[in-house]
Formats: sequence, structure tokens, C-alpha cells
Amino acid sequence: GFRMGIVGLPNVGKSTLFNALTKTAAAQAANFPFCTIEPNVGEVAVPDPRLDRLAAIAGSRQIIPTRITFVDIAGLVKGASKGEGLGNQFLANIREVDAIAHVLRCFEDGDVTHVEGRVDPLSDAEVIETELMIADMESIERRLANIARKLKGGDKEAVAQERLLKQALAALEAGQPALSIAVSEDDRKAWSMLQLLTAKPVLYVCNVAESEAAAGNAWSDKVAHMARAQGAGHVVISARIEEEISQLDAEEQQMFLSEMGLDEAGLDRLIRAGYALLGLQTYFTVGPKEARAWTIGKGTLAPQAAGVIHGDFEKGFIRAETIAYDDYIAGKGEAGAREAGKLRVEGKTYEVRDGDVLHFLFNA
Ligand code: GDP
Repeated sequence: GFRMGIVGLPNVGKSTLFNALTKTAAAQAANFPFCTIEPNVGEVAVPDPRLDRLAAIAGSRQIIPTRITFVDIAGLVKGASKGEGLGNQFLANIREVDAIAHVLRCFEDGDVTHVEGRVDPLSDAEVIETELMIADMESIERRLANIARKLKGGDKEAVAQERLLKQALAALEAGQPALSIAVSEDDRKAWSMLQLLTAKPVLYVCNVAESEAAAGNAWSDKVAHMARAQGAGHVVISARIEEEISQLDAEEQQMFLSEMGLDEAGLDRLIRAGYALLGLQTYFTVGPKEARAWTIGKGTLAPQAAGVIHGDFEKGFIRAETIAYDDYIAGKGEAGAREAGKLRVEGKTYEVRDGDVLHFLFNA
């Protein structure tokens, strides 16, 4: 599955957000730097009203949403790449995520200590980015030294890796993240194996005061500007509000949200922004037993999409009976869509689209 790491300086609201996301008390929020020591891992259902509509039409007994994993990664401080604070552990945990949700403190509160003694999200972002860039430069230099040996042995993969490492190093030395490098399709695999920290897409999460959740504030505006300049994602959230919302039932949530002037929970926006950032989309399998959502990357072909369900589906793939979501709804189900000529039979080269309702046929 897809994993998103929540990072940020101590006391910016990471644990509060993580708790709200996962509705557990496991990651205890406390007004004390370094309170999150072990990475906390939580799985979150991806909210998707389409799934509920499909299940209602098909009379599915069970609804199974797709899931995204959040990892609350221990607080990073200045000097982490040198092993300060919980630095090294932080760096190891962050290598394993697909994307980074970078929480920035955009709220003023005299009772909550700020590690740097002042609220300034742009400079907080820079502290963390600098640590990640230093860590990447050090790991690149170590790898280049190791690769030198393999190159003598004529290892082809090592040649590609060396080229990529040198490109990344040049970018970092010029103050740019590894993400700024254009990587060809052929190099994708070698590139992802390098697991560089600054090669991961970033979603900035502005944690604002309760009263500013709808409109944001001057700080979150500045972060939005920075995010656009970097091609990064951006959401405004009040972690405190999300924490309260997570304790309400669905009906109460709607009332609470409209009182606050919000259309939907910030967490839904956060998850959607994460999806967009990672280039993810959803397809559905629908039947009387269950209606289920599955996550794939954009551009995934039908056999690989089937492989998300089970490896055998991919290996023995024959074809996929496909109904677009809108056609399924318009036809009031599979039979109606079929009658209207909207059921397509797609083969191995079909690029699955967001919202497709699929039925795979395969050789067992
Ligand atoms: P972490 O160290 O980044 O995980 O931060 P925590 O989630 O533990 O939050 C640190 C403190 O800030 C806790 O006392 C939270 O209740 C408080 N806090 C978190 N979000 C907000 C917020 O939006 N507004 C205010 N006033 N306090 C917050």
C-alpha cells in the first residue's frame, strides 16, 4: 500500500493530526518536544462517496474502502543529519515512505513551546529541508564511494546509479532537492532504489488556529505561495478541530463542519491531496457480497491493476469487463449498463481510468 510520512519540527501538531487521522489514542499529544519517539503507523480509509453509491445500487453486503498508511515520524530538529535529537531514526523511517506530509505550525499559542522560540513556518520548512538535503548529500557520497568498486567489475546497473547519484549531488549542491531532476522512464527503478529523502513528493500541511480553519491566515498564505513555487501540494487544516471531529458521529460531524464554515473535514482534503500528489486513482469491484475500492497509480494497465487484488489475477489475466462509474450509475447497475452498451471488454493494454468498475477474467 501507499505510505505517507508525517514530518515537522516538534510541537507543530503532528501527533494531534495523526491521532485525528487514525482515531487512536496511541500517539499521545503532549506539550513536550520529542513526545513522539517511535514512529506510529496507522491505516486510514480513503473517503469516497462513489463507493457508497455503488454498494447501494448493487446491494453489497459489505463496503471495503481503499486504505492509505500514515506514519507519524518522530520530531526533527536542526542538526538531525548530524545525529541530534532523534535524527538518525527519523531519517531511516522517512526513507520508507512514498510521500511526505510536512506539518508547519501556523498557529500562535503562548502555552505551546516552539522549539525555535517563534512562529515562522517558512523558516521551519527550511530547517527541515536543509537537514534532508544534508542527509542526502552524505548518503550520496557514501554510495559513490561504494559504487566505485562495482564499476571496476563492469556492473551495468552501477553505471546508471553513478550517473543518477552525480546528477542528484549537483542539484543538491545548487540548493535544489533531488526531486528537481528529470528522470527517464528507463532510470525509474534505479532511481527509486536510491531512496533519496528529497526525491519524495511533499504536501505542506498548514496547521492553523481553530478560528482560521476555513480561511487560513497570513502564514498559510505564504506557505501556499512557497508550495506553488516548488510544485508541492498544500492544505490548510486545524489539527485541533480535526481531533474534535474525529470523535463525533457522521451526523454531528456535518453540523459541526457547517458551524465552522467548512464543506468537508480537513482530513478528507488531506487524503485527496495526498492522492493527487502521488498520482493515485481508484477503481472498484462491485458485487452482492462486497463493494470494494482499490488504489493504483495513474496509467496502470489492466493486468497490473488486477495484480493489486491478487498476483494470480495479474499472471493469468485474460480480460477486464469495464464499466465507467458514470455509466454504472446511469444504468442503475451492471445489467442496465450492459443493456445500454456501456460494458466494454478490455485487454492487456487497457489503461485503467479513475472510477472504473472492473470485473477480471483470468486463468487460474
Ligand atoms: P508534535 O510534537 O508535532 O507531534 O505536536 P503535538 O501534536 O504533540 O502538539 C503539540 C502541542 O500543540 C499540543 O499541546 C497540542 O494540543 C498543541 N496543538 C496542536 N495543534 C494545535 C492547534 O491547531 N492550535 C493550538 N492552539 N494548539 C495546537
